[in-house]
Amino acid sequence: MYIISEPCVGVKDGACIDVCPVDCIYTTADDSQMFINPDECIDCAACEPVCPVTAIFREEEVPDKWTSYVPVNYNYFKGKDLSQLKQATQEAPRKVNAAH
Ligand code: SF4
Ligand code: SF4
Repeated sequence: MYIISEPCVGVKDGACIDVCPVDCIYTTADDSQMFINPDECIDCAACEPVCPVTAIFREEEVPDKWTSYVPVNYNYFKGKDLSQLKQATQEAPRKVNAAH
């Protein structure tokens, strides 16, 4: 699985969402980052190189300082309605001043 870690916080430019073939990256307007749904991620790695701030890592390769983000991604989806979350993700504003 792939995990989104701290550098996404406050950036949320959505580049990863644009390339994910299974649309498994989610957020809402109220969240400070994007999250990958581990139940849907197919481990394709497409999102990793497009992140302008290097926030995305294979779960096994998350730097030690950001390993707390592994459960953050997993727990984000607990008890959430995925169809509502898909809608919220589409409606969430993207920051346009990301460091491309
Ligand atoms: S690894 Fe592939 S399937 Fe998983 S979140 Fe990234 S782009 Fe989507
Ligand atoms: S590409 Fe990186 S910074 Fe942009 S939304 Fe995805 S994880 Fe966050």
